[in-house]
Amino acid sequence: MTSTKTTRNPSSLELIRRLSSARGAPGFEDEVLDAARQFIDPQTVRTESDSLRNFYLYRNQNSGDRPVVMLDGHSDEVGFMIQSVTREGMLKIMPLGGWAPQTVLAQKVAVRSVSGKWIPGLVAAKPPHFMKESEKSSAVNIEDMVIDVGAVSAEEITDIFGIEPGAPVVPHADFEFNSETGVMLGKAFDNRLGCAAVLETLSRLVNADLAVDVVGVFSSQEEAGLRGAQVAARKVRPQAAIVFEGAPADDFHGNAEARQGVLKKGPQIRHADRSMIANPRFTRFARETAQMNELPFQDAVRASGGTDGGSIHLSGAGIPTIVISVPVRYIHSPYGFAALADFEHAVDWCEAILKRIKPEDITSF
Ligand SMILES: [Zn+2]
Repeated sequence: MTSTKTTRNPSSLELIRRLSSARGAPGFEDEVLDAARQFIDPQTVRTESDSLRNFYLYRNQNSGDRPVVMLDGHSDEVGFMIQSVTREGMLKIMPLGGWAPQTVLAQKVAVRSVSGKWIPGLVAAKPPHFMKESEKSSAVNIEDMVIDVGAVSAEEITDIFGIEPGAPVVPHADFEFNSETGVMLGKAFDNRLGCAAVLETLSRLVNADLAVDVVGVFSSQEEAGLRGAQVAARKVRPQAAIVFEGAPADDFHGNAEARQGVLKKGPQIRHADRSMIANPRFTRFARETAQMNELPFQDAVRASGGTDGGSIHLSGAGIPTIVISVPVRYIHSPYGFAALADFEHAVDWCEAILKRIKPEDITSF
């Protein structure tokens, strides 16, 4: 056991570093679960996983006869799948999740071999020296990009690298933390910050006397269409749900008055997006709880985007669901920035909600 297990003074930074560095393209989340297991104390939390690699965390203090609040954080990250191999040994890719092509080119990535080894590669296209003038100023589509692992033939891809079609690919990025600014740099903050928040909240609750049962879930395949959460909600059958997300920060574009995701201004509560209109009564309860505890937060009203809340709130007979997000600059690109304080405040907020909420509150939602 390390000093970061759930019963002992957990270090958020180490947890975030390990989770964000784990490689988990949609459908390939196993490494994220393995990383999380290092931080879980079986004395306080019982875990389970299913064939979609949803990961369930049950508080040992759950009584089984109280309303269940589900805490969700999706465990996958935007990535790619190897589609085919060219004669020259280049790897054609298919996106898993939403990518803007201009953030993909020239990035370093990791490709998983058949034996489970991660092979470093570069996202390549026609080099500038061979481009026509018109090509230099126009964007390259992902269909025209390849991953180059340094092979010279298709045979090398099979015989030396052991890479086959269907292999997952994720960005390669090292986690860094600036202790002077409190800002983290790394990959997959959408949504390993959410996974870390689920674990951290459960660890804060170890000795808490709650009026509800709490089940944490790392849902798989969110980026492929909120899929794991559909199964998880059917299995957990919660009476209410809190979804953690790493959401796009908007702190230096658009109108200053319209900004809703500014780093260090607190986590966001998302009132609506394309996948869900958040339960307004649960939303009000959450906002009041933040105000009572003097926790900073931002209100987000999004015309686009979606979260696992989209799947969860429509499960069963309808589940009151809210989404608490940590603003992250440049999500759905290889790297991002996020403030540790926003993460900590998201956990503080969820902890305060769970300590305050009563069965009758849930009934009133
Ligand atoms: Zn996400």
